[in-house]
Amino acid sequence: MTLDLLADWLRRFAAIIDENKTYLTELDSAIGDADHGANMARGTAAVVTHLDEATTIDGLLKKAGMTLVSTVGGTSGPLYGTLLMKMGMATGSVVELEPDQFGKALRAGLEGLIARGKTELEDKTMVDALSPAIDAYDAALADGADLWDAVDAAQQAAAAGRDATTPMVARKGRASYLGERSAGHCDPGATSSAYLFDALADVIGT
Ligand code: ADP
Ligand code: MG
Ligand code: MG
Repeated sequence: MTLDLLADWLRRFAAIIDENKTYLTELDSAIGDADHGANMARGTAAVVTHLDEATTIDGLLKKAGMTLVSTVGGTSGPLYGTLLMKMGMATGSVVELEPDQFGKALRAGLEGLIARGKTELEDKTMVDALSPAIDAYDAALADGADLWDAVDAAQQAAAAGRDATTPMVARKGRASYLGERSAGHCDPGATSSAYLFDALADVIGT
């Protein structure tokens, strides 16, 4: 995983978010305040403007994370921002990561996000897509898979985790205000989190 590939990952994420911002906002209108698409499109577009400045992987991830925190506005901004900043803090000042080092960075990012959001699995949040994806990535590598197969496994697990949020009753964020009425709707944040792994699979070329 190189600096250039990571920059391409975040560019591709921004493009997928932009293509799907209306859909993300529709999802958020059912169980939130109808701004997740706009929030994420604004934040990821701002991230893209800084990608060329980065000379190291940690610099790129930290800058991207800080940009999300300062531009997104909604709950999702500080959470995605923490994910990327903590990833950056875990990599060190390098221009290339081995697949297992990238997995450790993802894990550190997820742990930071969970600590910040005080979120558990099955709260019907982005964690329900991110956590199984990172577990699948690690499990694939432990089984001897290469980066391509590990990312493919992560992408599939993220999509399954996203889909599994539909029947859940939300326990965090605005959707939790609806109580039982939040069931039957896919979580917007879990949907954007699955796009993060779609973007990774696209740039790795699985
Ligand atoms: P807001 O709810 O402030 O309008 P967004 O609409 O951008 O923010 O993001 C909503 C998403 O944020 C939800 O779909 C959910 O996935 C995620 N989310 C909300 N609260 C938490 C939390 N405590 N931990 C993890 N994710 C959360
Ligand atoms: Mg919202
Ligand atoms: Mg909002």
